[in-house]
Amino acid sequence: MAGKTRSPSLFCWKLKVRPTVKIFLHLLFNNRLLTQQQLQRRHVSLGNPCVLCSAQAFEDSLHLFFQCPFINGVWNAVRQLSNAPSLVVTHSVQQSLVSSFLACGSDNRLQAWLAVSLWCVWTERNNSIFRHTACSTAATVARISQEAMACLRLL
Ligand SMILES: [Zn+2]
Repeated sequence: MAGKTRSPSLFCWKLKVRPTVKIFLHLLFNNRLLTQQQLQRRHVSLGNPCVLCSAQAFEDSLHLFFQCPFINGVWNAVRQLSNAPSLVVTHSVQQSLVSSFLACGSDNRLQAWLAVSLWCVWTERNNSIFRHTACSTAATVARISQEAMACLRLL
């Protein structure tokens, strides 16, 4: 039976986004992004909390992409631009990811907005850590909008 079941992670390869974003989503779904949680598993973590919010929350993928006040602020702004549905937050990042994409239905446009939003939050997090830039909801939403429009022109 398991052999006949297609992996839920296959959805990311069919999205109408850049290959970089598809690879990012594949890593996110498989919990392979080097968040503080994954670094801690590899004994290289500095134990730093999430850099995107002031909640001092432990940085794992579920927090970063679904629970963090930063992603919620970004996604609320994106929803006003795109009419996308709310993020679906469950007990795991895999289920939250699949459920959030399912909430977009078969609308390639909404799926692209969601994929690009998650990608841009990841790059914002990385820029904050490695380039010491300040996190900005407005700047992140502007980048998401620019990237999503580029994807939508390809649809
Ligand atoms: Zn946070």
